[in-house]
Amino acid sequence: NRYITIKTQVDGEPKESDFELKTSALSLSLDSGSNDMIVKNLYVSIDPYQINRMKSHSSSQKAIGFAAAITPGEAIDAYGVAKVVASANPEFEKDDLVVGLITWGDYSLLKGGNYMLRKFDPMGFPLSYQVGILGFSGLTAYGGFFKVCKPKKGEKVFVSAASGSVGNLVGQYAKLFGCYVVGCAGSKEKVALLKEKLGFDDAFNYKEESDLKSALKRYFPDGIDIYFDNVGAEMLEAAVANMNTFGRVAVCGVISEYTDAAKRAAPDMLDVVYKRITIQGFLAADHMNVFSDFISTTTDHLRTGKLYAIEDVSNGLESFPSAFIGLFRGHNTGKKIVKVADE
Ligand code: NDP
Repeated sequence: NRYITIKTQVDGEPKESDFELKTSALSLSLDSGSNDMIVKNLYVSIDPYQINRMKSHSSSQKAIGFAAAITPGEAIDAYGVAKVVASANPEFEKDDLVVGLITWGDYSLLKGGNYMLRKFDPMGFPLSYQVGILGFSGLTAYGGFFKVCKPKKGEKVFVSAASGSVGNLVGQYAKLFGCYVVGCAGSKEKVALLKEKLGFDDAFNYKEESDLKSALKRYFPDGIDIYFDNVGAEMLEAAVANMNTFGRVAVCGVISEYTDAAKRAAPDMLDVVYKRITIQGFLAADHMNVFSDFISTTTDHLRTGKLYAIEDVSNGLESFPSAFIGLFRGHNTGKKIVKVADE
């Protein structure tokens, strides 16, 4: 079995030389009663938060509260779609399609039954949707927008990293709900996608703006009601400066701070007090109670063509490092996925 691992902890920007491909023997004979399973990995989700699990212990302590640190030399675990090859777990059979925690490898050996895995019905959609629009990216966007931002129709919404996996869906849900939506992204192609295909009211390239506060003032002359934050740092400060009274900021992630320990948002707290702004962090897993609403709403919109699934797929096990590194360089548009193998 081939798999990808980190050579040592990664602090700062990840680079190709931080990763290596290893091989290990994998026996198909599992001890009965062990609940062990072997699955063939098909589609693996590539997620920014993994960088926080790769950091050296002291700098990652806060970040790894909900997921263990990644050990150099061991296969990196990640959410993905796989097919059961061998199972000593009575709940799963050979050839079952499953989604859950697998690995950056050709195959995953899942030990002891204490793994997050479930069978699923593709409902006529591509299998890759399970790691993006119908998986955690979608739930993050849906739960974060509807439950944390608590939108009202007509409110003005700003989304950062808006062409990314979570951001593009937040903008699409917000438009379908009846909000005014502006997104920012890092290239003119991404800006065009938001405005021309995904129905955003407006969008801009944040890399072309020298003063983010005045840029947001231009796009929101009457202020921002909701800011869905994917990036943190200066963008969060600029958004808070432009929030309306009783505005809500959902802090989904702070990708610009993940690779730069010196960068931390310092929003003006006087704005927060006098404008009574709510700033709330959240995790997708907080919103499992809306999972079935999320799936039924999202699949309905997909079937009627009101919602687009934007995917960015790299092929083959060797592409894991570049796919992951690309997240921090803005190389991806939409959900970044590695397709490891055909079904
Ligand atoms: P994306 O698909 O959005 O990929 C990352 C994008 O972030 C890049 O394409 C790039 O786009 C942008 N980016 C990278 N570096 C910077 C930077 N320094 N400043 C500004 N933008 C940057 O990833 P996801 O949609 O998977 O994740 C988006 C955010 O949501 C992340 O912060 C992630 O950690 C968080 N998240 C949180 C979850 C939760 O449960 N709370 C669950 C899933 C994700 P561009 O070209 O526009 O710069």
